[in-house]
Amino acid sequence: MPGFVGHTTANAVVLAGTTAFMWWQGWSVQDILAVDAGIGISTLVLSPDMDLFNSKSMEDWGLLRFFWWPYARLVKHRDRMHIPILGTTVRWLYVLGIVLLFVVLFRFWFRRIGLQIEFDFAGDTDDIIYNLLYVVDIYIGAVLADACHYVLDVATTELKRDLGGNHQRSRDRYA
Ligand SMILES: [Zn+2]
Repeated sequence: MPGFVGHTTANAVVLAGTTAFMWWQGWSVQDILAVDAGIGISTLVLSPDMDLFNSKSMEDWGLLRFFWWPYARLVKHRDRMHIPILGTTVRWLYVLGIVLLFVVLFRFWFRRIGLQIEFDFAGDTDDIIYNLLYVVDIYIGAVLADACHYVLDVATTELKRDLGGNHQRSRDRYA
């Protein structure tokens, strides 16, 4: 029910709070930016409301949202995939899966038209570990954003139940 604006506002507060906290803890600017990017992505394009085909987060994907159709079909709104960490991991892996699928398809297609493109990542192990740390940062940010989303969803649902607002239940599906 909080809707896109409610969630975005709440997550903006989380973003500001987390940034201040990391700054205070002496995190590097790169790390702070990576965590913030995670919060931003999870709020705007990979939000738990991706389980709703008509949500604002979904609309922002434009035509690409059709890649999310199977996800929205399989996952019931506000079901298990709304749970932070679990849902976060599944959604990010889902995107990774789609990207990998495209890489494989394009490789295949390039080879067919006689183009040879190397996708191999040349870099030593240290580089990979170093960059993986940013992935961890982004993931932390995404989990924070999803946790805030979840808390807000649960809190507003409880509040509504206490107020006896049963008539609004059907509208829940669009939040
Ligand atoms: Zn939600």
